[in-house]
Amino acid sequence: MKIAILGGGGRMGQMIARDIIADPRGAQLVASVDHAQSPLLGRDIGEVLGLGATGVALTADRDAAFDKADVLIDFTAPPASAEHAALAAQHGKALVVGTTGLSPEQEAALKKAAEKTAILYAANMSVGVNVLLSVVAQVAKMLDDQYDIEVFEAHHRHKVDAPSGTALALARAAAAGRGVKLDEVMVPARHGYTGPRKPGDIGMSVFRGGDVVGDHTVTFAGTGERIELAHKASDRSLFAKGAVTAARFLAGKPPGLYGMKDALGLS
Ligand code: NAD
Repeated sequence: MKIAILGGGGRMGQMIARDIIADPRGAQLVASVDHAQSPLLGRDIGEVLGLGATGVALTADRDAAFDKADVLIDFTAPPASAEHAALAAQHGKALVVGTTGLSPEQEAALKKAAEKTAILYAANMSVGVNVLLSVVAQVAKMLDDQYDIEVFEAHHRHKVDAPSGTALALARAAAAGRGVKLDEVMVPARHGYTGPRKPGDIGMSVFRGGDVVGDHTVTFAGTGERIELAHKASDRSLFAKGAVTAARFLAGKPPGLYGMKDALGLS
């Protein structure tokens, strides 16, 4: 299976390359693509990672990457991911998208591309978070709106979108469990004279700082008790491994929009 990475110079892109080079198991890294301005452009990706030469240099030539690869893995930025989905459809190549913070229009671009090719889109590639999504939906289904739902997330200082895609997915799972639409109940932030909390609201709060890999907690706060369901990622290689698992799952799949639960067999 030939894999290309889009966003190959980034934190996740480098981590995914490391995972494929160190443990190929039938996979081969054939291209790694980043912005033309990347300071790593032209460097052999294996040498950048201290793993020795691989013959794959970081380039800005995404068309060549779409030509060479069977599956592409995208960890870039929302506008780029929407463009990459259109290119995947055009080239008939499978695409794993891990980028978060996509607008509804950018998500629609992924859905459109998925009519022509296999796309897997997941805000979080870890087993634990995908199990947590199911558990949160189940707990939300069991409790009525006497239990206030709050989602808290914490990430490192470099993260550019908020709330995290995972926090939004957890809130969406809670809303689905409760049988409501998240858009109608989500309170993304609170500031100033907010008045009392409305029953049924799903609140979000965000921490940014240091090198936190990713913490998420969903709290169901009743009268006299609270249930807290939490996930803490301590190593981002977890997400890289998940992305490669997703690529292995997606290779050869018919067109459609897949999720991480499909790749992990949790559906
Ligand atoms: P990063 O900024 O370190 O890396 C992003 C890379 O993409 C950069 O090198 C940048 O130059 C490149 N890029 C941006 N636009 C591009 C374009 N048009 N063409 C080619 N390259 C382009 O960020 P990161 O920490 O690696 O995270 C990337 C994304 O992945 C973020 O949205 C983040 O939230 C998400 N993420 C998802 C998961 C998951 O499990 N799904 C896990 C961690 C991070």
